[in-house]
Amino acid sequence: MLSNKVNYKKGTKYRNMQKEPKKQLLAFKWLTKIVSDITLHKRLKIKKVNMEGVKAPYFLLSNHMGFVDLEINALAAYPARVSHIATLEGHYRRSLLMELDGCIGKRKFTTDPHLIPACEKVLNKFGAVLTMYPEARYSPIGTLAILPSSLGQLIKRLKHDVVVLVHHGNYLHTPFWDWRRKRDVPLCSVMTRVLTKEQVEELSAEEIQDTVTKALWYDEYKYQKDNNIRITEPYRAEGLHKVLYQCPICKTEFKMYTEGAILGCSECGHKWELTEIGELKAIEGETVFSHPPTWYEWQRANVRKEIDEGRYSFTDEVDVFSLPNTNNFIDLGKARLTHSMETGFVIEGHYNGEDYKISRPVAGMYGVHIEYDYCYIRPEECVQISTSDDTFVCFPSEKNQVTKLSIATEELYKVKTEEKRLKRLARKLAKESETNGETENK
Ligand SMILES: [Zn+2]
Repeated sequence: MLSNKVNYKKGTKYRNMQKEPKKQLLAFKWLTKIVSDITLHKRLKIKKVNMEGVKAPYFLLSNHMGFVDLEINALAAYPARVSHIATLEGHYRRSLLMELDGCIGKRKFTTDPHLIPACEKVLNKFGAVLTMYPEARYSPIGTLAILPSSLGQLIKRLKHDVVVLVHHGNYLHTPFWDWRRKRDVPLCSVMTRVLTKEQVEELSAEEIQDTVTKALWYDEYKYQKDNNIRITEPYRAEGLHKVLYQCPICKTEFKMYTEGAILGCSECGHKWELTEIGELKAIEGETVFSHPPTWYEWQRANVRKEIDEGRYSFTDEVDVFSLPNTNNFIDLGKARLTHSMETGFVIEGHYNGEDYKISRPVAGMYGVHIEYDYCYIRPEECVQISTSDDTFVCFPSEKNQVTKLSIATEELYKVKTEEKRLKRLARKLAKESETNGETENK
């Protein structure tokens, strides 16, 4: 029998996603402050803009480049209590601690009806600062990722001041693609109230979405250059090939490598140096892209072309681990993972005597969570696909695949959203012409 759930062994329970949030314990607030002061005070600056008179409760939105963002947000909001909307994997084996710290558990890129009442409780009952990372993942190339289109509506529904805290330096200090080794880079976060409660009331959800998206914009390589931040670590490029996976010279995918400060293509032999100021420079011949995010966006354009021409699809045999609750990852063995315009993500496998098929259609996912070195299971790249009650961590058999999967998820979503918009418009126009016809006939 085929099921859309895994036939878990007796005793395995799903996490209750409707748990009420807890007020952050005062002890946790002080502890976070003390620990953050000790670990961050020498290398962190927090600038506050238009923050006079801003008091909790308010809605705090941040970009996301590493775990340290949670500490910085708590520090910036101090002395107010905070509640973070945090991924459920963050609750792994420390669920109670996360709850006592005020965290609201969420599975990534899923619709959770319980989330709004939980947010309202934090703001209206606890009077705390509600913090959210709307990118819902660490930045792969140090620029703002696509945000959920429902963010403006959520802000409108919550009816509170909106404060944006943009972190700089975190990606350069701890790049997602080589997070175990740090670079000597100072951290600077800018905290700005971008909307008052009254403005939230007056503006439309689209206008709010637009304001917040602009306020959250960041480009860490531009920031590095503008502030003349020199990264002198000899290993500074190591891992960058996981993100810049396609060679702009010979166009081959997944044959890039890094060594020290060098990024190279093993197919055509072209090499670039990642300079101390964060630019790419060809060792010989053409550089093509000196700005790493521009290279990344060129890859996106190529993925989009594949989608538009109907050539995009991904299929692989993967190792799957699931997280129905926060206690243990369950080894589900091998499965087939496919990704396409027609079906979105599909995982087909067999566990405990029963076949399962997990589907996440394109329209429901504006992004996907990927990891390059997953600390909880094994230090390899993986893609995480969540449903409303489970999370599946898939390790592909081929290397350097996950960045393209991430870009493809975003582009497929954009195509689908545009298709839906055009269909709605066509229906509206048809209805209008029908009404006009009826009027003329009268
Ligand atoms: Zn090449």
